[in-house]
Amino acid sequence: MFTLSPESRLTDLLEANREWAQDMSREHPQLFPTNGRGQQPHTLLISCSDSRYNENCFGVLPGEVFTWKSIANICRPEDLATCATLEFAIDVLGVSRVVLCGHTDCGGVNSCVRGQMPQLERNCPHLAEHLNDVVETSKQYASELADARDPARLLCIRNAEKQYVRLTQNKTVSRALAEGRIQVYALLYNVDTGLVEKLASTE
Ligand SMILES: [Zn+2]
Repeated sequence: MFTLSPESRLTDLLEANREWAQDMSREHPQLFPTNGRGQQPHTLLISCSDSRYNENCFGVLPGEVFTWKSIANICRPEDLATCATLEFAIDVLGVSRVVLCGHTDCGGVNSCVRGQMPQLERNCPHLAEHLNDVVETSKQYASELADARDPARLLCIRNAEKQYVRLTQNKTVSRALAEGRIQVYALLYNVDTGLVEKLASTE
C-alpha cells in the first residue's frame, strides 16, 4: 500500500519522485509551470509532525498551503520558528486563513496521558521538555480527563484549543484579525477516518 519502506534505497526515492512528478504533470499540466513562477498560498496550516496527515487531507495541490509542523502541534508564544512562520505567511505571503489542526492518537499527547514522561525524560530529554506544554495542559484539565471515556482524545482536543487561543493572541495574527485580513480555525483530524472536525473558529 505504501510507496516506500525502511528498505528503500536512494534510487527508489528518486524513481518514486520521477513517477509522482510525471503523474502530477499529466493531471495538472499548469501546476509546475505556475509554481515555477512563485507561490501564493491561501492557507497557513499548523499541524503535528505525525506522518498520518498533512495539507493533503484538504485535497489541495502543491502551492496552496504554507505549512508548519511541530510535535503535538505546539506553538509557544515565544517560539522563534512559530513567530517567524506567522509573520512570513500572514504579512509577506498574505494567506487568508490560519488553520491549527491537531489530530487523534497523537503520540506526544498519549505519552502524557499514559504516564510515559519519566521514561521520556531519561531517554529523550529534548522531547520531554517540548512536551511539558502538554503535561501542563493535562494538569489544568485533570478532573475532566479523569472522568473522560477517552482521555487521550480529549487531551488532543484541549491541546489544539490551547494552541488556537495562543495563535489568536500572537501579535501578527491579532493585528491581521483586527484588520479583517484572516480567519483562524482550530480543527481535529481523525487518523482512523481521514475526516476533520471543527473545534473553534473566528469565523
Ligand atoms: Zn501528533
